Amino acid sequence: MLLRDKFGRAITDLRISITDRCNYKCVYCRTGNEGALYGDLPFTDYLRMARVLVGMGITKVRLTGGEPLLRNGVVEFVRELAKLRTANQNGDVLDIALTTNGHLLADLAQPLKDAGLTRVTVSMDAVDPDRFARITRVPNGYDHVLTGVRAARRAGLWPLKVNCVLMRGFNEDQIIPFGMFAREEGVTVRFIEFMPLEEGRTWAPSTVVTLDEILARMAEYRPLVEIPHARSETARRYRFDDGVGEIGIIAPVSHPFCGHCSRIRITSDGKIRTCLFSVWDHDLHAQMRRGASDEELEEFIRGVVAKKEERHHIGEPDFVPASRTMVHIGG
Ligand code: SAM
Repeated sequence: MLLRDKFGRAITDLRISITDRCNYKCVYCRTGNEGALYGDLPFTDYLRMARVLVGMGITKVRLTGGEPLLRNGVVEFVRELAKLRTANQNGDVLDIALTTNGHLLADLAQPLKDAGLTRVTVSMDAVDPDRFARITRVPNGYDHVLTGVRAARRAGLWPLKVNCVLMRGFNEDQIIPFGMFAREEGVTVRFIEFMPLEEGRTWAPSTVVTLDEILARMAEYRPLVEIPHARSETARRYRFDDGVGEIGIIAPVSHPFCGHCSRIRITSDGKIRTCLFSVWDHDLHAQMRRGASDEELEEFIRGVVAKKEERHHIGEPDFVPASRTMVHIGG
């Protein structure tokens, strides 16, 4: 029986944070002073959680963090996850993806591909090295990340997506340069609206560069044509009029897509979160520690998923900040 919440949404997409440590201090995510708060678990524990969930209809597993490539043994973990491909009850091929800042990707792209990773998304918030350093608060990161992006493409980690969070005052002038980058590098660049999930609590509606603004700015460069997208896809997709280059826009603030949300998350310390903006999480790992069987874990998960929030309340008077910030959830 497929995993469904009480609003009838099928849950098919699992994100596992394998650490809440990160080697970057991006201005829209971290203060630069905080470190890891929750720690991480042995890979065997995440693997058991993934196995149980794949048996319940999960068809896509994305590894995230913190920065997932900081975890020793990530390649072996992907190899073990890939063995779950035969376990899916619906005959779907399990998609195994990774979100990374790309700093350590150059050397790991091919081993990850060989281990069974399907595709990768690299976060990159400027195509200018100085601006990149100002946003990430790490010197010389840009060259590492660009080399990582190219290594991922060579390794066949495809489709290759580059995610750019736009934050007013930092990088809204990077929209057109990223359009050029998408065309030159043959990657899909996806712009993400800044959400109130940062450690510094600096978010305000005025800091969000919205979908409409991104489209208007990009149209000054070249006309865009919208590409039809699946309802559960978070990004609206566009190609340039000459067919060269694709961009996407993920607009959770100005155009929420909660009604089609198919995701749950497991944090690095083994808690289930049913929404990025949840004000509590559910301790799956505690169930394992007390010796729960796989059937008991399934029952626990079904109970948690049933309580999945209908939608987020960003920008509304009753908005309550999430109980964790993005780096400690796993985006
Ligand atoms: N370290 C990895 C990375 O950089 O991709 C994975 C973790 S990071 C938390 C996952 C994604 O969340 C990145 O694409 C990042 O840009 C995005 N993100 C972080 N804080 C955000 C915020 N406040 N609003 C929107 N996206 C955010």
